[in-house]
Amino acid sequence: MSRCLTDRSIDHVVLERGEVANSWRTERWDSLRLLTPNWQSRLPGHGYEGDRPDGFRTMPETIDFIERYADVISAPVRTHTRVTSVVATDDGYRVATDQGDWQCRTVVIASGACAVPSIPAVAEAVPSSVATLTPLDYKSPDQLEPGGVLVVGASASGTQIADEIHRSGRPVTLTLGEHVRVPRVYRGKDIKWWMDVAGVLDEFYTEVDNLVRVRNVPSLQLAGSDDRRTVDLNSLTDIGVKLLGRFAGMNDGKAQFSGSLRNLCEMADLKMNRLLDRIDEWLSENPLDEEVGPPHRFEPTRVDASPPLGMDLTSGEIRTIVWATGFRPDHSWLDVPVFDRKGLIRHDGGVVEAAGMYLMGIPFLRRRKSSLIDGAGDDARDLCAHLASHLAGESPGPALDGRASAAG
Ligand SMILES: Cc1cc2nc3c(=O)[nH]c(=O)nc-3n(C[C@H](O)[C@H](O)[C@H](O)COP(=O)(O)OP(=O)(O)OC[C@H]3O[C@@H](n4cnc5c(N)ncnc54)[C@H](O)[C@@H]3O)c2cc1C
Repeated sequence: MSRCLTDRSIDHVVLERGEVANSWRTERWDSLRLLTPNWQSRLPGHGYEGDRPDGFRTMPETIDFIERYADVISAPVRTHTRVTSVVATDDGYRVATDQGDWQCRTVVIASGACAVPSIPAVAEAVPSSVATLTPLDYKSPDQLEPGGVLVVGASASGTQIADEIHRSGRPVTLTLGEHVRVPRVYRGKDIKWWMDVAGVLDEFYTEVDNLVRVRNVPSLQLAGSDDRRTVDLNSLTDIGVKLLGRFAGMNDGKAQFSGSLRNLCEMADLKMNRLLDRIDEWLSENPLDEEVGPPHRFEPTRVDASPPLGMDLTSGEIRTIVWATGFRPDHSWLDVPVFDRKGLIRHDGGVVEAAGMYLMGIPFLRRRKSSLIDGAGDDARDLCAHLASHLAGESPGPALDGRASAAG
């Protein structure tokens, strides 16, 4: 957004409570790599120029990449400046920070979709003898006690953390709900490449049937590694991880799991095959110059016919629980009445229901890719055009889809 504002000569400042790339510096585990290939972190005016376009950035590489971008575009960042409140005024907003106040006509909220972990209420009933942590404070298996680990949630974070912890010699049990299974590689190409060329990631928020639903879809079960291996439930059970249904409740120190494991896995397999069908269909209509592998399908997820429905958390078998149950934003500093009943900001494709206020970086904000680094550019261009009209005193309607306006 800063780059787009600069392109339009709109005077602005970027307020950051930590350093540039703060979330990648402070809230990620040590071994994490981006699950998006290097070529797929395109930012306005900035593509990948290295010699590993299909590689996956480590955290130091990711921090370096974002830091360099801020430098190249001369983003006017004020680091170590925490926003503590935003209130509406007659001609815009007053933004209070721990480094003084700002008066501005517009505000872009880009404080992250994954600011705080979403932990189910049942966590409160877990016995105190079991250590608990979330992906935001997990760094490496070394910080865990020896002994069994229960990982809750099988999306990108949960599966990657379960894989790493189990390989460290601590037996992992994975309890899971709805998840999105995809192979890392299909027909010889990265799944993200297929999703990009086939237009899946560009799907616009006005084109989907159930926006609330797609905004709540969990992250893909995917990991980035040099050998491009797939990390999914089958690869986890291959190394000995045990699978259980959804963590449904606690009673007197005993965890209860729903019997839905098989259904959940069948649903994920079905949806994966639908995506692969869509890719095959796209390819038959858009033949590539290069050769790709033949269409094929993957082994269905293997699950026990009747997995255990309970587990005594006081027995000492489980020493640690990792709540990999998703994240939510933290907009507690925003003192403008724009929240819905669930505490989420009401917006139309990032145009917030308060004149001159915009939102970015939220799942499916405007496109399926909105919460990816690669999605920020298109969203920023659209929203910046709206913001410029607002500053010009026009009354812009919803922000246009850049693709539509580019096509005339
Ligand atoms: C575990 C994990 C893995 C991911 N892997 C990938 C991946 O492989 N590829 C990919 O494209 N995306 C990935 N993502 C999504 C990724 O977070 C986003 O792509 C990207 O970070 C979004 O950038 P952002 O600037 O919107 O949010 P963030 O990176 O979260 O940045 C928000 C910034 O706002 C600052 N901030 C928050 N509150 C305040 C305040 N009150 N005052 C001042 N500053 C504040 C924070 O310090 C932070 O620096 C991953 C996310 C997680 C959680």
